[in-house]
Amino acid sequence: MSDMNVPEIKTALPGPKAKAIIERDARVVSPSYTRDYPFVMARGQGAVVEDVDGNVFLDCTAGIAVAATGHSHPDVVKAVVDQAQRFLHMSGTDFYYEVQVRLGEELSRIAPLKGPHRSFFANSGTEAVETALKLAKYHTKRHHLIAFFGAFHGRTMGSLSLTASKVRQRSGFGPLLPGAHHAPYPDCYRCPLKLRPDSCAAECLDFLQDQVFGQVVAADEVAAVVVEPIQGEGGYVVAPQVFLQRLREITRDNGILLVVDEVQSGMGRTGRWFAVEHSGVEPDVVTMAKGIASGMPLGVTTAHADVMSWPPGAHASTFGGNPVACAAALATITLIRESLMKNAEDIGAHMMQGARALMEKHPIIGDVRGRGLMIGVELVRDRQTKERATEERNRVVYECFKRGLLVLGAGRNTIRFSPPLVLTKDQADTALRIFDESLTAVERS
Ligand code: PLP
Repeated sequence: MSDMNVPEIKTALPGPKAKAIIERDARVVSPSYTRDYPFVMARGQGAVVEDVDGNVFLDCTAGIAVAATGHSHPDVVKAVVDQAQRFLHMSGTDFYYEVQVRLGEELSRIAPLKGPHRSFFANSGTEAVETALKLAKYHTKRHHLIAFFGAFHGRTMGSLSLTASKVRQRSGFGPLLPGAHHAPYPDCYRCPLKLRPDSCAAECLDFLQDQVFGQVVAADEVAAVVVEPIQGEGGYVVAPQVFLQRLREITRDNGILLVVDEVQSGMGRTGRWFAVEHSGVEPDVVTMAKGIASGMPLGVTTAHADVMSWPPGAHASTFGGNPVACAAALATITLIRESLMKNAEDIGAHMMQGARALMEKHPIIGDVRGRGLMIGVELVRDRQTKERATEERNRVVYECFKRGLLVLGAGRNTIRFSPPLVLTKDQADTALRIFDESLTAVERS
């Protein structure tokens, strides 16, 4: 799969083989998945993916921010194969294996809080969040939880109770976890409290203190505040540093654990190991998944040893911390440390600048934001009223697909760029060129 002809679309989309698979899929696979366009993967390498009909695409999704080291990075594949040949499974719940211990040690080196640390190993982002919730309740002996509007923390019942991104994700599943409350998130582009961007962060926290703690639940009954330093599914919304800093003070003053959900924003994507580091804030608990093992299923919850002090049997998982996934994570961490975190910072800055430049040409772009290779472009029908261009956003995503660029939506009207962290400058320019053409196509139609 050479980089020379990327992208290269050879058939109508979907091509005949893709079409046949999608028809079979419709008969047997849950209809709850949200497929925005008919991409049927055959293979991938780096940031380039090929579909079953031989069409070649540039991937700016990384399979929802997962393939951090690029598709099938040889070092990761080697680590997976080596481990698979030794043993596939033994369950860290009942037995020991060194690869999991080594991963715990590595995570302790990069965790955004002071140690000594302990890590719990699960299989997914939602499980990492469930673990954090159970741990916070167990440790504090309190049961209330605070999350933010726009948040996405997963879809199992505990995490779902904190998720408040799209009503479709919650509706029909109630009653959810008692004691889960929401406060406004400082989406300063469209401040939930209709304030000016410079006061939005402070006012959102005043709301938490005055309205939530003053009228709904006493702060000393709250086990944890769970926050994404950059909201992912909610639309790549970056919390101002001062928001996270003051949130840290409020939680510390009230004996509340601060849980940062870095499932999407972590593992080098923003140019630091964890997005919270940009603010200098040290959380009590951090959740990770997605990019941590380059595509092998792994979720991790890391906390200070004094917090993660629950007894044997309190929490466990048969598959969590699978040895093959742990081996993939170790190889992933090495690659991120060696070069990819820096690449995310550099190429991210280049892409962000390119996306911002497109604002001059395309009035449909209302806002461009993000950090590193976590970039959101919010589309609006009118820059003054900020009316959401949801339908246009969906069409731009499809136009990109037709031209060989894979991107995903986030929130109601944002397009996200979350490519593998191996993205090159040339690839970033190709992505921007196709994005530009796709915006033009939608604006003209
Ligand atoms: N937390 C965040 C911030 C996420 O972005 C996601 C998934 O998008 C999750 C949790 C849930 O992860 P998973 O889909 O692996 O359960």
